[in-house]
Amino acid sequence: MKSHRLDFIHDELSALKEQHLYQSLVPFSGPPGPEIIIDGRAVLNFSSNNYLGLATHPKLKDAAKKAVDDLGVGAGAVRTIIGTMAIHQELEQKLATFKHVEATLALSSGFSANMAAIPTVLGLGQSDKPDVIISDELNHASIIDACRLSPKSVQRDVYAHSDMDALQSVLKKHAHARRKMIITDGVFSMDGDIAKLPDIVALAEQHDAIVMVDDAHGSGVLGKGGRGTTHHFDLSDRVDIQVGTLSKAIGAVGGYVASTQAMRELMINRARPFLFSTALPPSVVATCIAAIELLSNDTSLNQALWENTRYFKAEMAKIGFKIDSETPICPVIVGESEKAQALSKRLFELGIYGRAIVFPTVAKNKARIRIMINANHTKANLARCIEAFKTAGGALNLI
Ligand code: PMP
Repeated sequence: MKSHRLDFIHDELSALKEQHLYQSLVPFSGPPGPEIIIDGRAVLNFSSNNYLGLATHPKLKDAAKKAVDDLGVGAGAVRTIIGTMAIHQELEQKLATFKHVEATLALSSGFSANMAAIPTVLGLGQSDKPDVIISDELNHASIIDACRLSPKSVQRDVYAHSDMDALQSVLKKHAHARRKMIITDGVFSMDGDIAKLPDIVALAEQHDAIVMVDDAHGSGVLGKGGRGTTHHFDLSDRVDIQVGTLSKAIGAVGGYVASTQAMRELMINRARPFLFSTALPPSVVATCIAAIELLSNDTSLNQALWENTRYFKAEMAKIGFKIDSETPICPVIVGESEKAQALSKRLFELGIYGRAIVFPTVAKNKARIRIMINANHTKANLARCIEAFKTAGGALNLI
């Protein structure tokens, strides 16, 4: 189809290219394991959020196949009409038990979960005083967009990344608000640092603020059996709302909000991404149930993930790449965008896929290769990656 009325889009694309912001897709073939095929070449994948390797786990695949046979491929409706199958309720109960919360609600993605929780909970009813969302400056795009979609009466304020003095000042500034809600990522996706949750919770309690944690990168990774950042700090009963994803460590797709029964009911009645979007297909739900059962009974994948992470960081430090992160997200910061792109290209030639992350996703002088460690990377995979960094880093005068 040709439409001249859409010709203006070419100008926008040219502008993106000129600003070095244009992205193209990198399709791969074969399953999303540690080794993937790109342009007919086998390379090791070091950019996937498949932390525990569950995307190809035999138990999860069996669960999905069985659900297709027993229940079909789609739920057929939005949850509130006739899309709530018994299996959705089962997943939500299992997630609530796993996370030690009263109730959870599943959505079609982590992005949708933030869109469901944030605009729904504040700005309710009539009040002379405003409600305020207080958000870390490095929070994920889905949090930022969800804040923008909140009712007009809800004010928004941002504090400098993980700066507790800044958070305190913002809380004091809004002392007269009706309700305040602090929102933070549990694990920050570009730097791999963990939110200062004990301090955030203490400040929230002093200032009577709701605490919400988006634990997309903490779920399956931090805390006993991967129960998340709140468990890592033993704070699960002092955090009011948690968002999790089923798309990263859990290996499938989807998201959830974990909170109280009342919060669940409010979202069922009010949250637009829940009310107006078809329920997750039963095979995905069955996959996620199998993943939660696996994590509840077996911590070996979580242990392998952390063992790989420790090994990778220690060996990278030995060759001159100091990785400053607290989790399996390993940012190898090189500075300028061009350098990061060149390093990524050289790594690819050496059989390693490590995506360059550049401005505007990160600051202009903080371009990086973000290496994501997975539990199913073998020691040989990790060693090859480190060797490639040594060769490419040396050639580009980075070490
Ligand atoms: N929150 C954070 C912190 C994330 O990193 C992501 C994924 N990029 C999401 C939410 C969205 O999760 P999903 O991919 O399941 O939509």
